[in-house]
Amino acid sequence: MQIRGYELPPIGTNAFLFSDNGHAVLFDAPQDAWETVKPILEAESLTLDALILTHGHWDHIADAAKFQQNDIPVWAHSGDQEWIEDPSIMAAFMSSDMVVPPTKLDRVLAHGETVELLGQSAEIRHVPGHAPGNIVTYFPEAKVCVVGDAIFAGSVGRPDLPGGDWPTLKAAIKAQIMTLPGETTLLCGHGPQTSVEREKATNPYVGG
Ligand SMILES: [Zn+2]
Repeated sequence: MQIRGYELPPIGTNAFLFSDNGHAVLFDAPQDAWETVKPILEAESLTLDALILTHGHWDHIADAAKFQQNDIPVWAHSGDQEWIEDPSIMAAFMSSDMVVPPTKLDRVLAHGETVELLGQSAEIRHVPGHAPGNIVTYFPEAKVCVVGDAIFAGSVGRPDLPGGDWPTLKAAIKAQIMTLPGETTLLCGHGPQTSVEREKATNPYVGG
């Protein structure tokens, strides 16, 4: 399985393209994600099986409607469904020239669910507190977990946005991310990748 990351505008949000054996899955659709990913899909004859939104914040969903218009199924957790289906709710947090079209969820993911992606079984875990519907997708075989904005290298997601809560975030990170095997690579919604063991040792918010 190949994993490629793209840091996209306007505020440096990561999208991750997983691909294997002619199929692909994309995590998050920041601005320019469609223009970035489409040529790769065409050049490598990849079928994009799903766009999985780690959560509903505007910078992670800006291009989601373009994928939907091209018949790519869009999946996310119910906790952020309202934001994804009516992004104008978040207008106060976007620059005034930013327009995020609505996207209808094709599949609502739930905590504890196992999804078959690229021939591997991946586990959906709910990690609220930054956003009510932040999910992480854990691939045990590949030892990789896509975490959205729950945790970053040396930091954590902002808990002070609407629907956020620090005690909730801290408890969810400890229960759902820190319990993964130490060697698990964490692919974060912003900044560099890290690992469970590194964050356990060094993260000032949830380490130790
Ligand atoms: Zn966010």
